[in-house]
Amino acid sequence: MKKQIHKRCFDYSKSPHLVNLSLVKFSFGSRVATDHRVHAWQFEFKLGGPLAAARRTTQLPGEVLVQEDALAATTKLDTTLRSHCSTCLHRCPAPLPCPTCSLVVFCSEECQRIGVAGYHRAECGVLPTLVSLQLDPAAALAFRVLSSTTLPALRSKVSALLQEGSGTRPMLSVQRDYRTLYHLEGHDTARTESQLQETAAIACVLAHILFENCSSFLMDNTGKFCAISEEDIILVGGQLMRLILGLECNIHLTKEALVGTAVMNKGRGQEVGWSVYSALSFVNHSCVPNTLSTSHGKIKFLYSINIIPRGAEITDSYGERYVSHTRTERRTALQQHYYFCCGCAACQADWPLFKDIPEKPSLRCPSCFQALARFTCRLCDISCTSQATTQTGIRLYNAPDILKQLNKAWHDFLKATVQIQKGNISPELVEMVVTLMEILDKYTVYPSQAIINAQEALMACFDLMGSVHFLPITPKQK
Ligand SMILES: [Zn+2]
Ligand SMILES: [Zn+2]
Ligand SMILES: [Zn+2]
Ligand SMILES: [Zn+2]
Repeated sequence: MKKQIHKRCFDYSKSPHLVNLSLVKFSFGSRVATDHRVHAWQFEFKLGGPLAAARRTTQLPGEVLVQEDALAATTKLDTTLRSHCSTCLHRCPAPLPCPTCSLVVFCSEECQRIGVAGYHRAECGVLPTLVSLQLDPAAALAFRVLSSTTLPALRSKVSALLQEGSGTRPMLSVQRDYRTLYHLEGHDTARTESQLQETAAIACVLAHILFENCSSFLMDNTGKFCAISEEDIILVGGQLMRLILGLECNIHLTKEALVGTAVMNKGRGQEVGWSVYSALSFVNHSCVPNTLSTSHGKIKFLYSINIIPRGAEITDSYGERYVSHTRTERRTALQQHYYFCCGCAACQADWPLFKDIPEKPSLRCPSCFQALARFTCRLCDISCTSQATTQTGIRLYNAPDILKQLNKAWHDFLKATVQIQKGNISPELVEMVVTLMEILDKYTVYPSQAIINAQEALMACFDLMGSVHFLPITPKQK
């Protein structure tokens, strides 16, 4: 069922709301910087693709900016192990077990083969221990990274990385290997001594488990055990520590939307696992982000939720958005978890909370961006009643006409949200939400409750196009 919905939405070709990633190219020109704000990811279209004729220079709301498979992913270490595939993080309606233990399940023979021949070979015997440790997400994922490799392979990977890293900082790029995990920003210099000691203690326990209980970790590719030296213990412990710190600042929650309850509620579904990505780890935070990511198993989709002009920075929210939390609350949480002081537009100007922003959208002046009064801006001495360009180069629009379009789009949007709240999704419903979002983005004063509501509905659409769990309907609900 969920696969069908997903496919239907991605076959959507009427207008390019969900374009192929190959059309989008990211530019990242600088070297690794310790300043968080420096890795600015911008989008640019590659001309020559199927959409080149259109020569679009903006990204519309609802388009896919990034579609990325996880570099590493794990289910939560609890009952989720029995309900979701350990390899791809999809829910398993007909689970296949591990041939040896009764703790994990796989959704297909392919996922079972990947698990049993790979990461689960080392994990199989130690899962009860890992579960009982109640590991934090970053520690659980760091263990998964190392249990997917072997000591001889790790030795050669790290020695290669140490050689290339001597002297200068390496260039960052989107790569699907250990190098990316190794270079994740862990902000270790910003951490307190006790935080580092705590992480070191966890790394020590996990290294002990790998050496003592995971025989496959110690085998080379001919199946021979390798001798362990003191250096190896330092290597594995050090890599675990590095991974945990890096993952703490770069981990993504893998969520599943729950249909049968209110879909457009706050939590946006339940957490089923944790994962880490290469391209997505470059995306900076903003309390007023222009994108949103959703999970389809361990695959992430990053969607635009605003019109993003060509060359603009792509931002995602690591924490709470400005509409629900005050600047102090947001900055405190971001400082605690990600070690930076947010300087986004909402933080700089200290934007008001949802309850304090205007409910209704107002058409804006194309010159000063303030609200028009009867289609006129007194400040700029502009009457915005037809499509024309003024002598000073201001592009006017037909405001009475746009107002009519806005009213119709709002009416359609209200009808669409009733369906979306029930967990229904179709290209037509997405189109209705996107149409409203585009008009609001292009012609109205920012922010308004209407814009936030449209974005919330768009987010609910993306969630419904990702992993979805249909809860059984109780007789009362029928
Ligand atoms: Zn699977
Ligand atoms: Zn097993
Ligand atoms: Zn901010
Ligand atoms: Zn004006």
